[in-house]
Amino acid sequence: MVNFLELELDQRFANSLPADHLSLNTSRQVLEACYSFVKTKVPSNPKLVHLSSAFLKELNVQIGDEEQFLKVVSGAIPYPSAAQYAMCYGGHQFGNWAGQLGDGRATNVAELNINSSNWKFQLKGAGPTPYSRGSDGLAVLRSSIREYLCSEAMHHLGVPTTRALSLVTSGDQVPRDIMYSGDVKDEPGAIVCRVSPSFVRFGSFEIFSSRRDIDNLTKLTDHAIRELYTHLGEPSKETYLKFFEELVDRTKTMIIHWQRVGFVHGVMNTDNMSILGLTIDYGPYGWLENFDPTWTPNTTDAQHRRYRYGNQPSVALWNLTQLANALYPLIDEAEPLEKILHGFKEAYTSEYLEMMLSKIGLEKRTNIDGQLIDELKELLENSSIDMTIFFRNLGQFENPNSFIDDVRDASYLEDEAFNSFVDSWMSWLSDYAVRLQGENRSNVDRVEAMHSINPKYVLRNYMAQLAIEAAEKEDYSLVDELYQLLLRPYDDQPEMEKWFAKRPDWALNKVGCSMLSCSS
Ligand code: AMP
Ligand code: MG
Repeated sequence: MVNFLELELDQRFANSLPADHLSLNTSRQVLEACYSFVKTKVPSNPKLVHLSSAFLKELNVQIGDEEQFLKVVSGAIPYPSAAQYAMCYGGHQFGNWAGQLGDGRATNVAELNINSSNWKFQLKGAGPTPYSRGSDGLAVLRSSIREYLCSEAMHHLGVPTTRALSLVTSGDQVPRDIMYSGDVKDEPGAIVCRVSPSFVRFGSFEIFSSRRDIDNLTKLTDHAIRELYTHLGEPSKETYLKFFEELVDRTKTMIIHWQRVGFVHGVMNTDNMSILGLTIDYGPYGWLENFDPTWTPNTTDAQHRRYRYGNQPSVALWNLTQLANALYPLIDEAEPLEKILHGFKEAYTSEYLEMMLSKIGLEKRTNIDGQLIDELKELLENSSIDMTIFFRNLGQFENPNSFIDDVRDASYLEDEAFNSFVDSWMSWLSDYAVRLQGENRSNVDRVEAMHSINPKYVLRNYMAQLAIEAAEKEDYSLVDELYQLLLRPYDDQPEMEKWFAKRPDWALNKVGCSMLSCSS
């Protein structure tokens, strides 16, 4: 085990890419640079709320001196000898080009070699940068708990994601207008140390392309290939295309995972799309409870629902198209890029179907598979069924007559309203029973396979909210309980049965549960 503060510093991003030549920490346009040197804000009274011990263990790293560790992950002091910098990027927000965005409240504090991988450590909420656009560069406890718990939970669900190492409170009060209703309140400030092999986003390429800065666009792309897509070979026109093709593939895989577990990102702007196909920037995300493809947790997006559950694959493709436009000057031919983009739809459709069939435990393929899944989705939606509970319990299916009660229990409808769907459900369940008979796998093997992809526990919106409300009173026990629970989302944890339950009624229309905004 190596102490966190004694790891090998290897600043590959900062050392090989152009830095902003100004060291002025005020909101401004930063040209011809991938990042700006900044200094983190010194918090008034930092306290450690939680540490991802599972992640530390994976890295084979220990925190060492706790006081020094806390100082580094709260931004009170720099990591020994490390440069601190905020990255420059742009982005399309809600379908419109928004120009320069950048790390307005994230500061990279260390690039470290750990077990022959290079990891970037970034503090979110550690003060303003040239990209803050007049905002404070800070983050509040509620959004930090949400990012911290969810990134770790997603990892344990097997979804590609950035990680979180630690959560601290800063001791400073941060004013926020939660629902943008003019009601500003002071909230406890907090900082998450998040970790990834790269924080480069689609928007990192878009900003150079939009400024016709082809020199730096090339530098960044070549760097991404050399550092993150080494296996593709030395940068060339051909390699750029391979890089794009692989990223399209990784993004598709990430979205299929989101659809599998019922995760709705909420703000799929191109600045929130990772160059590694990782889930990044946990803001007003949410988890599907009743299976409603039109649902979005983000009230800022309530009108158009651009980022609703059912639209995530289309938005991913739209975002990839923006990236293709940004990379076009390096390739100078539209056709090969279009071909790759066309491939997304076809591959997504067939892999999505595969994924859905494995959720219901079917291994063999027949020509009615697509119909079976379409009918199921329609029933889940119309009879308002809790997605997580339904798929998990489907492992116990024996026959339609016994299982219909499980379906009823998973529905958010009143009994009477549910009754009108009983016939349709019985018919679907009968078809399903017939299909199961044609399977070669033993029941035990099938259930085991189903349980390994249908989680029993996810970070339901109300669960995070309960942890937040307790934490705001300085009781962090629920943060820890949920962190521990979500280390093993696929295991039955009998002592944790209370978290395998439908959303309680009080959470239906509550801020923080079904209604979230970008205010964080
Ligand atoms: P997000 O919606 O969290 O992806 O943020 C969009 C942009 O706004 C990014 O450039 C963020 O860095 C920036 N931003 C969000 N909140 C703040 C804040 N409190 N202070 C400064 N910049 C922020
Ligand atoms: Mg963002």
